[in-house]
Amino acid sequence: MNRERLANGLTQMGVAFDAEALDRFEAFHAILDAYNARMDLTAVLDEDERIDRHDLDSAAPLAHGLIAPEAKIIDVGTGAGFPGMPLLILRPDLRMTFLDALQKRIAFLQDALAKLGLRAETLHARAEDAARMAAHREAYDVAVSRAVAGAATLQELTLPFVRQGGVSIAWKGPGVAQELTAGRRAAFVLGGTVRGVVDAPVPGRRDWAHVLLVTDKTGKTPAAYPRRAGTPGKKPLGT
Ligand code: SAM
Repeated sequence: MNRERLANGLTQMGVAFDAEALDRFEAFHAILDAYNARMDLTAVLDEDERIDRHDLDSAAPLAHGLIAPEAKIIDVGTGAGFPGMPLLILRPDLRMTFLDALQKRIAFLQDALAKLGLRAETLHARAEDAARMAAHREAYDVAVSRAVAGAATLQELTLPFVRQGGVSIAWKGPGVAQELTAGRRAAFVLGGTVRGVVDAPVPGRRDWAHVLLVTDKTGKTPAAYPRRAGTPGKKPLGT
């Protein structure tokens, strides 16, 4: 792994890190490679691209001070651990839950967490089902999600997890403007208020760009939400 690229990128973003974090990123990449050789876990990227697109991109909320110390946080649709794993590597104080509907990805994350010596909860479930469980409903300070669904669907998959006063952070592409009206309406139904969009300030090659859609949890999510598994995707609120 190109430690210098990662260290320089984090420094340019204003994100704090130490040598142990760089060691863990290096170990995490090696574990990902080992799994990817056996199963289709995530798109294989060249090393520099992986640092930019996965590690630095995942760290974006830290550049904006969006995640408080020891926050309880859930990564909804984490896949191979993005953005949750880089966030946890950089901030081992976070109380992280990794959620995904695919068991093979959760099994990978459990193995990776053990090998990296990091503590976190893993949850194999659909977000629509998990958000109805008492232990998870409105139980988190922060929900994060990247590349999971359109903004309106995403609000229904994340806001029910967030306590009043907490926040949902979604990584979106430059086309977010087209999703914003529905995203705002959906948030309103679910007890959320869209705060706005902030840039994900990743240095390096930029033939792609992300922004963070930040939604505050300003009220309680009505008991009817989230709707049955699959419905938020098929019939997004607010569209
Ligand atoms: N967040 C990761 C990233 O940015 O690399 C993975 C993105 S991948 C395109 C989408 C992931 O979301 C998949 O792992 C999928 O299993 C998961 N997912 C989609 N809908 C979900 C749902 N309703 N509940 C739980 N996981 C879901």
